[in-house]
Amino acid sequence: MKRLTILGATGSIGQSTLDIVALHPDRYRIYALTANASDREMERLCRRFNPAFAVMRNDDSAHKLQQAIADLSTEVLSGEAGLTAVAAAAEVDIVVAAIVGSVGLMPTLAAVRAGKRVLLANKESLVMAGALFMDEVRRHNAELLPVDSEHNAIFQCLPAGSIGSGIAGKGVRKIVLTGSGGPFRDLDLEAFDDVTPEQACAHPNWDMGPKISVDSATMMNKGLELIEACWLFDVDHHDVEILLHRQSIIHSMVSYNDGSVIAQLGNPDMRTPIANALAWPERIESGVEPLNLLQVSQLDFTLADDLRYPCLALARQAWQQGGDSMAVLNAANEVAVANFLDRKIRFTEIPGLINEVMERTSTGSAADLAAILDADASARRLASELVKARV
Ligand code: NAD
Ligand code: MG
Repeated sequence: MKRLTILGATGSIGQSTLDIVALHPDRYRIYALTANASDREMERLCRRFNPAFAVMRNDDSAHKLQQAIADLSTEVLSGEAGLTAVAAAAEVDIVVAAIVGSVGLMPTLAAVRAGKRVLLANKESLVMAGALFMDEVRRHNAELLPVDSEHNAIFQCLPAGSIGSGIAGKGVRKIVLTGSGGPFRDLDLEAFDDVTPEQACAHPNWDMGPKISVDSATMMNKGLELIEACWLFDVDHHDVEILLHRQSIIHSMVSYNDGSVIAQLGNPDMRTPIANALAWPERIESGVEPLNLLQVSQLDFTLADDLRYPCLALARQAWQQGGDSMAVLNAANEVAVANFLDRKIRFTEIPGLINEVMERTSTGSAADLAAILDADASARRLASELVKARV
C-alpha cells in the first residue's frame, strides 16, 4: 500500500490522479490533498477519499473547510507551511506535484528533499529552478518521474535510468518532442488579435486547466517543455527537435543512431502518463480507452511556424542565456497569461510582454534559491507594471 500526497488535488491533473487512485484501493491510499481556495470541491474530495490531512493555501478557505468537515477525522492545515509539511511527511511514499505555476516550487522541492517518489506535472518549478532542482533530486535520492505526457513518453522510450543522467553512450541521435499546435494552429494570423480566453482554453485534443491551455495556444507550453526536457534528461536544446503532430497520438519519440525511432502512442488522456508514473516499473489499469489506430487512421507531422508561435523562440533564448533567465521567462509568462485570462491584455500582447521583461532584465545567477525567487519576484513586478502602463 502506497500513501500519496496530491499537491493541487482539485485541478485537472489532481482529479485525473484521484480517478486512478479510485480504481486501485488495494494499492493507493490518500495521505493528504491540497488546493488553493476551492474549499467546496475539497470538502467533496475529503468525504470521498478520507485523507489524514487537507491543506488550503488560502487561510479563509482553510477555516471554511474546517467547519464543513468537522465530522471527519481529516485535519485541516493552511498556507505554504501546510503544503511543505504534507509534501515531506514521513508517512508519504509518493507526492504528485500538480500545483500550477511557480507557487508549486517550494512544496515540490520539499518532497524532493524528503527523498520521495515525485510525480512531476508542475513543469514551471523545473523551468525556473532546473539546475538546483536536479541537484537536489540527486543529493536526496528522490525518484523523479515525469507526468507531462511528452516527458513521460520520452522516459518510456529511453533506456531505464535516464532521468538526470544524459544521453551520452546510449546511441541516441535526438529526442523528438511533439505538440498539437493548440486551438489556433489553422487560424488566419490576422485573426489572432481578437481571440478570447474561451477560444484559447478550448483545446482540440486535451482537457486541461486554464493556464496550460493558454500556454498551449501560444505554444509557450512547448517552449517550457523544451526546457523541462533539457533539465530532466540532461541534454542541450539542439538535442531536442519540436514537431507539430495534430492528432496528439504520438506523445514524443526518441531517434537512435541505428535508425530506430521509438515512440509512445496513446489516446490524449493524462491518466496514461499519471498511471505510468504511479506504478512504474509496473503497469496498471488507468481507465483510458484503448487506442484504436484504425479510427485515428492518419498521423501528420509539420514544423512549428515562428510567426504563429513567437513564444517558442523566447523559451529557446532563455535556455541559451541560462542562469535565472528561465525564471524570468516563466514569471513574465505567468503574469501575461493571467492578464490575458482577465481580459486586460490581448492574446497577441503575450509574447511582446515576455520579450520586454526579458530584455529589461539582465541575466543573473540561479545558483541558489534566494536568487531564483528574487528573479521570479522582480520579473513579476516588472511585468505587472508594464501591463498597468498599457491599459
Ligand atoms: P489546474 O488549474 O486545473 O489546477 C491547479 C491546482 O493547483 C488546483 O488544485 C489549485 O487549487 C492549485 N493551486 C492553484 N494556485 C495555487 C496556489 N497559489 N497555491 C496552492 N495551490 C494552488 O491546473 P492543471 O491543468 O491541473 O495543471 C497543473 C500543473 O500540471 C501545471 O503545472 C501544468 O503545466 C501541468 N500539466 C498539466 C496538464 C493537464 O493536462 N492539465 C498536462 C501536463 C502538465
Ligand atoms: Mg505536455
